[in-house]
Amino acid sequence: MGKTLLQKVWDAHTVRILPTGQTQLFIGLHLVHEVTTPQAFDELRLRGWTVRYPARTFATVDHIVPTRDTARPFGDPMAEAMMSALERNCRDFGVPLYDLSHHNQGIVHVIGPELGLTQPGMTIACGDSHTSTHGAFGSVAFGIGTSQVRDVLASQCLALEPLKVRRIEVNGTLARGVYAKDVILEIIRRLGVKGGVGFAYEYAGSVVDRMSMDERMTICNMSIEGGARVGYVNPDETTIRYIEGRPFAPQGEAFERARVWWKSIASDADAVYDDRIVIDGSEIEPVVTWGINPEQSVGVSQRIPSPKDAPSGGGAAIEEALTFMGFDGGAPIAGTPIDVAFVGSCTNSRLTDLREAAAIVRGHRVAPRVKALVVPGSQAVRAAAEREGLHEIFTAAGFEWRGAGCSMCLAMNPDRLEGRQICASSSNRNFKGRQGSPTGRTLLMSPAMVAAAAIAGEVVDVRTVLDRDLAAAR
Ligand code: SF4
Repeated sequence: MGKTLLQKVWDAHTVRILPTGQTQLFIGLHLVHEVTTPQAFDELRLRGWTVRYPARTFATVDHIVPTRDTARPFGDPMAEAMMSALERNCRDFGVPLYDLSHHNQGIVHVIGPELGLTQPGMTIACGDSHTSTHGAFGSVAFGIGTSQVRDVLASQCLALEPLKVRRIEVNGTLARGVYAKDVILEIIRRLGVKGGVGFAYEYAGSVVDRMSMDERMTICNMSIEGGARVGYVNPDETTIRYIEGRPFAPQGEAFERARVWWKSIASDADAVYDDRIVIDGSEIEPVVTWGINPEQSVGVSQRIPSPKDAPSGGGAAIEEALTFMGFDGGAPIAGTPIDVAFVGSCTNSRLTDLREAAAIVRGHRVAPRVKALVVPGSQAVRAAAEREGLHEIFTAAGFEWRGAGCSMCLAMNPDRLEGRQICASSSNRNFKGRQGSPTGRTLLMSPAMVAAAAIAGEVVDVRTVLDRDLAAAR
């Protein structure tokens, strides 16, 4: 009987089965940032422990960093304290740190792949929910809490419950104007935010096979929003081509040996799954969230649901979301006015995301009352975008072009919504208060849809913008 990638990677990293029934799993790569680590390092100090494998541990700053004025000390004393603590901890424990002065700095889930640290067949941990991003490479990547960060720092191991595997096949062809973000929002809409509890999601099918690594990262990034502990794509030639030549990738003979190992850990053709879902990619249209979790979404041509349309028991959740959002059930989502447009976050701040947004923005102006910002995921993405002139397209249109960081995804920095503002956002969470204002409202969508909304001043179908630009070019 064949094995899934999850089983193969799990077996290869099992240290032992604990008396609790959990598996003690060796972690190949530990990514560290400023928010979830201060207490973990403090506990190591208290106990007189060291970091077990500093060579497998890498730190960056992303959540709290300002994306405009990065002069030290930061204006926010709490941000300054976190930054200083990470600097001290990395110095004391021998962990490399990519701080704001380093060209490798950026969002932790952007820089890991970019540097070639993220590789197929690895186990990866990071104190951030969206660590599932790294699964795009065929790694098994866990978002962990502060006490688990301490465990990994001290022992390079985690105690974990076994997972079931659900294979999600997306087949066919995506329509123009439909992107990886729409695919994952559609998956979450269909399976629910709790549908993946207890599962690893294996993404497959012809749509996923044709995707770039950036697109696969967008899909895997939001696995956690569907309740799955991890999400992954089997490694293939696209994966291997992406990794080759990156700073931390194996070189020469070692790369050839790694290529064989990476291919061998893909799920076997006769692997047995706990569940299988098949989705026709051609049915997916641009998706927009209307509520307060990523499952509460509709296609852009559709209407916001009413409590009376909900299956039994679902009306209360719709009612709560509509009340918070100030929306009417039955109203079309298209035409919803926006105040802020945000292109960024570990879901959608890579070079291809910026290219897609710039293609929509080129030759247009941001609507007069909309604040629009583009926040590249890393200093390397920013530099690459500038080499292509993307920053000029954005700034000419009225977007702000910022430094690398999490920015308005989480708003633990100066980039925040104010009051009841509505933000068209390429990030991953639309929870109440997520973007900094307790009453602020978030509409999740693809970077291209954010760009289209910025120009129109309201939610619009990006396909109409693409059609119009195409007609004008003829
Ligand atoms: S961009 Fe958002 S989700 Fe991603 S690491 Fe930063 S705060 Fe977390």
